[in-house]
Amino acid sequence: MARAWPGVVEHYAEWLPVTGVTPRITLLEGNTPLIRSEHLAQRLGDGVALYFKYEGVNPTCSFKDRGMTMALSKAVEEGAKVTICASTGNTSAAAAAYSTRAGIESVVLLPDGYVALGKLAQALAYGARTLAIDGDFDDCLALVKAIAESYPVALVNSLNPYRLQGQKTAAFEICDRLERAPDFHALPVGNAGNITSYWMGYTEYHEAGVVDARPAMLGFQAEGACPIVAGEVCERPETVATAIRIGNPARWQEAATALDESGGRIEAVTDEEILEAYRELSGEEGIFCEPASAASWAGLKKLAAEGFFEGEECTIAATLTGHGLKDPDRAVEMAEEPEKAPNDLETVAKMLGLA
Ligand SMILES: *Cc1c(COP(=O)(O)O)cnc(C)c1O
Repeated sequence: MARAWPGVVEHYAEWLPVTGVTPRITLLEGNTPLIRSEHLAQRLGDGVALYFKYEGVNPTCSFKDRGMTMALSKAVEEGAKVTICASTGNTSAAAAAYSTRAGIESVVLLPDGYVALGKLAQALAYGARTLAIDGDFDDCLALVKAIAESYPVALVNSLNPYRLQGQKTAAFEICDRLERAPDFHALPVGNAGNITSYWMGYTEYHEAGVVDARPAMLGFQAEGACPIVAGEVCERPETVATAIRIGNPARWQEAATALDESGGRIEAVTDEEILEAYRELSGEEGIFCEPASAASWAGLKKLAAEGFFEGEECTIAATLTGHGLKDPDRAVEMAEEPEKAPNDLETVAKMLGLA
């Protein structure tokens, strides 16, 4: 049998803080497609080659799986029997799946009454012990931290350093595929863990001589939740892009360093621009991602409108962080009702403009 993809921890073991005895807790995440844009790229300029890193096809349908395979591998190595996190979205889905895969318990704390049940369907399906706390999200986070300090449970929130290690493998995959680093890397920014991870990955490959340059990092926040762009904590973050509805990013400082060292940019895009980009990616390129992911494309269009890519031959990688079906309410809301038609060949052919 040909050697199958072993998951990111095993494939990139020499680049990660693991040894031969570290268990590989994997659902074969990573190795996601790098899809060349056929239809949208020309809007950025004639010389632009645009690639979408489609992270929605990971096992729990977001890039969080890259971090969680690493976090769980280390947690199990260190003897953990329980994981805990306070996310209501993609992190809890990944934490629950990888904990179950490891054969250990997972606990998800969330603020009672502030969580759409649909968002939790995955965590519940994967069997996470889910507690609705009489408090807000910050209370949950504080509880989770306190519990992890006092009891033998592994914290797998964005504070867990192994998650960044796992997530940096996406940058490796892009370089391995292109046989170089892109000139620009665009991605949405919430807690800013992912932009930190990509920069770490590109930097490690560059320092090892695998690639001879690093991209400029282009980060995009939602206008209603753009603390890094504004330079101050956002007290009431609000955006349709729930995965980046973050007012005080956990990795703010690291993101600032990545932007600075790479000569990058961070910009805000409006919900309207995000939803337009969301529609274009599925309707014109055939790639369905969740609203937060579409901030990548919305931001690139915004920079292009300022002439940012003009006259430049360049290669851009844009991460599409999660799958469109992650947010089924939005998907249905954005879709048009199907037209009613009779069960009649002639009429249907006429309606379709064929007859
Ligand atoms: C977590 C997440 C983000 C934001 O990533 P950060 O590391 O928090 O900046 C963006 N999109 C999706 C789909 C996510 O799950």
